[in-house]
Amino acid sequence: MLDGRMMDFPLTLTHFLERARQLFPRTEVVSRRPDKSLHRHGWAEVHARASQLCNALTKLGVKRGSRVATLCWNHTQHLEAYLGVPAMGAIVHTLNLRLHPSELAYIGRHAEDEVVIVDRTLLPLLAKFRNEIPSLRHVIVVPDDGPATPEQGHDYEKLIAAERPEYAFPTLDERAAAMICYTSGTTGNPKGVVYTHRSCVLHTMAACMRDSLGVGEDDTILPVVPMFHAAAWGLPFAAAACGAKLVFPGPHLDAASLVELMAAEKVTVAAGVPTIWLGILALLDAAPKTHDLSSVRSMVIGGSAAPAAMIDGFAKRHGLEVTHAWGMTETNPLGTLSRLTRSFVGQSDEKKLAAKASQGITVPFVEARHVGDDGKPLARDGETMGELEVRGPWVASSYLGGEGAEKWTADGWFRTGDVVTIDKEGYVRITDRSKDVIKSGGEWISSVAIENALMAHPAVIEAAVFAGRHPKWDERPLAAIVCKAGQTVTADQLRAHLEPIFAKFWMPDDFLFVEQIPRTSTGKFLKSKLRDQFGDHLMPK
Ligand code: ADP
Repeated sequence: MLDGRMMDFPLTLTHFLERARQLFPRTEVVSRRPDKSLHRHGWAEVHARASQLCNALTKLGVKRGSRVATLCWNHTQHLEAYLGVPAMGAIVHTLNLRLHPSELAYIGRHAEDEVVIVDRTLLPLLAKFRNEIPSLRHVIVVPDDGPATPEQGHDYEKLIAAERPEYAFPTLDERAAAMICYTSGTTGNPKGVVYTHRSCVLHTMAACMRDSLGVGEDDTILPVVPMFHAAAWGLPFAAAACGAKLVFPGPHLDAASLVELMAAEKVTVAAGVPTIWLGILALLDAAPKTHDLSSVRSMVIGGSAAPAAMIDGFAKRHGLEVTHAWGMTETNPLGTLSRLTRSFVGQSDEKKLAAKASQGITVPFVEARHVGDDGKPLARDGETMGELEVRGPWVASSYLGGEGAEKWTADGWFRTGDVVTIDKEGYVRITDRSKDVIKSGGEWISSVAIENALMAHPAVIEAAVFAGRHPKWDERPLAAIVCKAGQTVTADQLRAHLEPIFAKFWMPDDFLFVEQIPRTSTGKFLKSKLRDQFGDHLMPK
């Protein structure tokens, strides 16, 4: 064997922070406060402020491996923690502000957080659990709606103002932990996923590829997806790596505020969960020419399935392109992404839309297979359903504390809990999460496929299909329907709409009209709640 003779240069996030300062000092990071005012910092300033933060944290006793939690909306100070904390060798731990205080207490205790950086507007939430985290020594308050008092904690701005804007960032091992994100706990206790510098760097490089999210220096990126949800899908790191402009929405995530911000800052790439985009589509449909979104070249949608009707509506009615992506907290998070490969040239619009609405093909270095109950790989025929398993350099190898070891196979794959088909082109289609699967008389029914079809009905804005208990068939599909404002539809009309598309036994046994569909803290349909509420709807009374 001949050893290669190349430098063993560590793949650490510090490089991105330094590069952005050196090459793109004036490119802006724009941040919206609760009062809607916009604050602008160049990348050089972000670097300087991150360095000041690191100096302050060092004085507060933060060392290599210390956990620094954040309880924040998306904004510049959060970005400074994202980049500064890992660069000093500590670990940034993003807390999901939509979780219940008891879950936040559990997570904070489990991660052994020592410091928390919290928005002043979120102090009432912190007050509900801070005393339950014995390791927590310091509270740093981002003065988003006014200065913090000493009783509340250290005022972020005052704290960093007293520090030098340089920090001697250490050379780190690329396998050192950079960030901890917890799964949202829809499947049992939240589990801690520990990203390494290396996993974040490699993920960033893959995310920036043209066939992937394709972000570059000339992009203006709006992460609507919260920074506490799987590292805002890696976009803050990608922006730093390329020196792109970043726009943070702060707490204003309603459609009108987002559209206004996208138009004003000439956003080119925006990313969020389907609910956000459903709201934006409704707004654009109601007032088509009011907002100039001509700068937008890609709207990244993930976190749960993007309905085909929405992807089509954006493209046909507003000339806006959706990039549908799949990932998990455990995959840093990008795993697959739906772009049309050259094999779709000359194919029908219907086929193209079906591919765009699928979860797409794996990004380089993520490998995927789907397996049956016996753990054996299944045929890539686009029909056979099985559990998706993945592996790659940004896929978790275990959870913090070693819990949930059964999620990994003996031959080193991660069991995603998603039930999928994979076709011969490699396009993955999620049919369900395994815990939401509907098994009627032993046959699987894809709730996601039925939801997609229901959301294509002009009167339906959202539909969630879930398992109802059934005396004969064990389970039968039930559909919870939310109508568009001012529209109505009957169960018979919905049946007639589905009939040409699905086999008879896939037809929901009933349609339940609701005001809204319950959601998890990361915006997914909370089907367990629908099952609790309506699960016995078909059982004899
Ligand atoms: P949690 O697992 O804690 O709910 P995650 O955000 O990590 O939080 O969720 C990952 C899951 O979200 C995936 O396993 C999958 O079920 C779902 N998901 C993510 N993106 C998509 C997508 N594009 N289409 C369908 N489901 C998706």
